[in-house]
Amino acid sequence: MQPSVIETIGNTPLIRLRRASEETGCEIYGKAEFMNPGQSVKDRAGLFIVRDAEKKGLLRPGGVIVEGTAGNTGIGLTLVAKALGYRTVIVIPETQSQEKKDALRILGAELIEVPAVPYKNPNNYVKLSGRLAEQLAASDPNGAIWANQFDNVANRNGHVETTAEEIWAQTGGKVDGFVSAVGTGGTLAGVGEGLRRHNASVKIALADPLGAALYSYYTTGELKSEGSSITEGIGQGRITANLDGFEPDFAFQVPDSEALPIIFDLIQEEGLCLGGSTGINIAGAKRLAREMGPGHTIVTILCDYGNRYQSKLFNPAFLREKDLPVPAWMERAPDVAV
Ligand code: PMP
Repeated sequence: MQPSVIETIGNTPLIRLRRASEETGCEIYGKAEFMNPGQSVKDRAGLFIVRDAEKKGLLRPGGVIVEGTAGNTGIGLTLVAKALGYRTVIVIPETQSQEKKDALRILGAELIEVPAVPYKNPNNYVKLSGRLAEQLAASDPNGAIWANQFDNVANRNGHVETTAEEIWAQTGGKVDGFVSAVGTGGTLAGVGEGLRRHNASVKIALADPLGAALYSYYTTGELKSEGSSITEGIGQGRITANLDGFEPDFAFQVPDSEALPIIFDLIQEEGLCLGGSTGINIAGAKRLAREMGPGHTIVTILCDYGNRYQSKLFNPAFLREKDLPVPAWMERAPDVAV
C-alpha cells in the first residue's frame, strides 16, 4: 500500500521500443514517465523542489507555491502541494494545450494565463511568476516560494538521485547512451550526470526541436535558433542553472516532420499514446543509435501521455493548419454501427 500519491512518483517501468530497436539494430528503451500520477516526467521535479524548500524551512503549512510552467510542472507541483497541504499559483502561456490548463484547474491550481512572449520580455511567464512569488511572500500570512524550475537545481538533483539510478538498475548497468530534449534541462543534465557517475563513457545526447537554441550552442558555441515546433514543454533559448556545467557528447536537431510520424506509429503499432516531446526524444535515440552503431543499449524518456494533446497533435485540422502531414488513420473511418 502507498501512504500517499507522493510515493507513486518515480520507479516507472522501462519499455522496449520495438520499431526503433528493429530499425537501428540497437536496443532502444523508453522510461515510462507518463505513468507518474500527473502523467509526466515533471512530477519528479515538482516533488524534489517542494521537498528541498521544506528542508530549507522555506515552506510553512498552507504556504503558496508559485510557478511559471508550460503545464506539466504545474500539474506535478499541484498534486504534491495538495497531498502536503500547500496551495499553488500557476502562470501559464495561453498557447499551451487546453487539456493541460483544464487538468490544472481540476487539480485546484490557481491559474493565471498570460500572452506567450520571449524570455527577454519582462512579461514573460517565468519572470512574471518570480515577481508574483515575491509579492505573495510579503503579503500571504503563510508565506510563498517560487519553484523556479529552470534555475532551481533541486530539479536536476531529483533526476541524479532517482531517474538515473532507476535506469542504471533497470538495465543492469548495460546502458550505452541516453537521449533527451530540454525544457529546463533537469532531465538531460540530471540523468546524464547520474549515469556518468556510474560509467563515465555512457554517451549523453541532446535532442533539440526547431526553434530552440541549444543545438546551435553545443555545436558552435553560439545561442541561435531558427524555425519552430508544435511540441510543448521543450525548446530552450538559454543555459539554465540546471544545464550549467553540463556538456552533452552529441547534439541533434530534430524537425517535427521527423518526430511526429514516430508518435503516430507508436499509437498504431505499439499501443503507446504519447506527447510530441517524446517524438523528439525517440528520433534523437534513433540518431544516437546510428552514430554509435548496432548492438548498443540506448534509453530515452517517454515524457507525457498523449491525451494531453488531443486538440492539437491528434487533430487533423490543427496539423493541416501547421502544414504537418496527417496520418491516413487519423482521417477517421465512421464508427461501426451495431
Ligand atoms: N517534455 C515535456 C512534455 C515537458 O513538459 C518537459 C518539461 N517542461 C520536458 C519534456 C523537458 O523536461 P526538462 O524540464 O527536465 O528539461
